[in-house]
Amino acid sequence: MAAEIAPESTLPYPPIHTDKKFIVLSDWDGTITTYDSNDYMTDNIGFGKEKRREGNLEILAGRDTFRDGFRKMLASVVENGHTFEQCKEILRQNIKLDPGFKEFYTWCKSNDIPVIIVSSGMAPLIRAVLSNLVGPEAADEIEIIANDVTVFPDGKWEIKFRHPSSGFGHDKSQAILPYRKLSEPPTLFFFGDGVSDISAAKYADMLFVKTKLDGENDLAVYCQREHIKHVLFSDFSNALPIVQSVVRGETAIDEHISITPSN
Ligand SMILES: [Mg+2]
Repeated sequence: MAAEIAPESTLPYPPIHTDKKFIVLSDWDGTITTYDSNDYMTDNIGFGKEKRREGNLEILAGRDTFRDGFRKMLASVVENGHTFEQCKEILRQNIKLDPGFKEFYTWCKSNDIPVIIVSSGMAPLIRAVLSNLVGPEAADEIEIIANDVTVFPDGKWEIKFRHPSSGFGHDKSQAILPYRKLSEPPTLFFFGDGVSDISAAKYADMLFVKTKLDGENDLAVYCQREHIKHVLFSDFSNALPIVQSVVRGETAIDEHISITPSN
């Protein structure tokens, strides 16, 4: 499955859960939150939505890497003079949680299913927003595998990629693949919505793709194009009964898969 050599990671990983039957891995931006925080910054205090969408579509078409396109978006925020602390505060005030996530997380926790955030965003921003939305205790216990930030003495900052040698910046498949190599691998659920999830999409046992009214459904477009089996969901409250049914053995994963066109 993973023929390529794993990119070197500049950041540590949390230990693998070796004794679980099910693991949830989820994108953060636009999946656990209702709006992508990096898009929010780029659109409102960076070079704007139009340029950002052009960049997203270049990535989706394979003409730019996620790493380089994303770096340009964040650099436009820095060029406009915004410090990292200002960004944190702006996001705390504006980013909201998916309406079903708290209940989903509580159910997973009480059923011994780890929930791991796998993000191309920067971990300090995720912790700050998460703490604001679910409280400091839950924010501390949720594992986050993300990129980081470098803040310079003059207040400027730049994203520190986990996998600088990978075109994904953070190759999310590297959070999934160690689980597949276990002697008794768990069933892996992955939740995502955008181009940052392309690296993970085909490695999950059950891929949930979030669809949004604003029409920026890049992961759905990618999965249809590449014929990757997935389940569409609009928020975690409609994903929860599906996960419950699979975990309880009442239904098989394939019964929930959205039909992908066969060209
Ligand atoms: Mg996302």
